[in-house]
Amino acid sequence: MLHAAISEAFSTFFGVFSGFDSIIDVLDVLLVTMLFYSVIIQLRRTQSVQILKGAFIAIVAYAVVSLLKMQASKMIFDQIVSNIVLIFIIVFNTEIRQVLGRLGRANWRTVFLINSAERNSVMSDAINATVRACQSMSEDRIGSLIVFQRNTNLGDLEKSGVYIDSKTTTEMLCSIFFPNAALHDGAIIIKDGRIIAARCIVPLKNDHTVTEKVGTRHRAAMEVSRGGDAIAVVTSEETGIISIAIEGTLVRNITDAELRERLNELLLPDDESDNGFVRWVKRFFTGGGSGR
Ligand code: ATP
Ligand code: MG
Repeated sequence: MLHAAISEAFSTFFGVFSGFDSIIDVLDVLLVTMLFYSVIIQLRRTQSVQILKGAFIAIVAYAVVSLLKMQASKMIFDQIVSNIVLIFIIVFNTEIRQVLGRLGRANWRTVFLINSAERNSVMSDAINATVRACQSMSEDRIGSLIVFQRNTNLGDLEKSGVYIDSKTTTEMLCSIFFPNAALHDGAIIIKDGRIIAARCIVPLKNDHTVTEKVGTRHRAAMEVSRGGDAIAVVTSEETGIISIAIEGTLVRNITDAELRERLNELLLPDDESDNGFVRWVKRFFTGGGSGR
């Protein structure tokens, strides 16, 4: 029943490609593709991807059960499948509301930022702004923690803070971390060159392997970069030194020039073909995509 429905859906979908009778068909396919793309992107940005993976495993299990004609298991699966729409609405209740809301609010320029030259220029501006801000905060002994999110999903990190959607400028960074400013505590997250959240708290584990005498801000930087590709830049309130955390390791006391060099090499892709869609596919397979 399910595979019949799936194969019917596939043949209807791919049947469209067999002959583009009119421009309407092309638009139809484009619209469906955009719809799927946007819905999947928005779903990936919620925590529902695990459920989607679970559903995929269930479909595979159902196909196996049907092929092997396992009657008892098939009966249970049949019951689930016949109520699939209802189950989907109940399970994804929150996500459906979020997706609809986000579709309306989505920053489509960012989602479809296909032009890698434009994206690189946004990221390059963000790097310059970060280096200048760190230089200034280091001189003024202002503590800061800037997390560059890349492909790895940072879980609920951005949800722990306050959502922002701002161009990354030196002034913006300095005002966020200005002592006693409302958002100065915790970390900010920069994604695709834009500041997406501030006052985020990185969950800290009791890590006995941290032998270096570092405070919580620096430990948070190490923690957020561990096991993934996020990068954290820290300025120390106590000493003014600038550090960068990559793959869980803290490189302390780096100069502005070294910071710029590191960020450029880590954040600016040298592959010009790395467009928005390729990036999205990478994020899909590396479990990234949290955030807006
Ligand atoms: P500094 O050299 O600036 O003093 P530090 O590594 O010694 O940094 P603390 O002195 O403990 O760290 O810094 C405290 C500040 O670090 C907090 O006010 C907060 O802004 C930030 N911070 C502490 N823990 C976290 C965390 N888990 N996630 C994000 N930011 C954190
Ligand atoms: Mg300290």
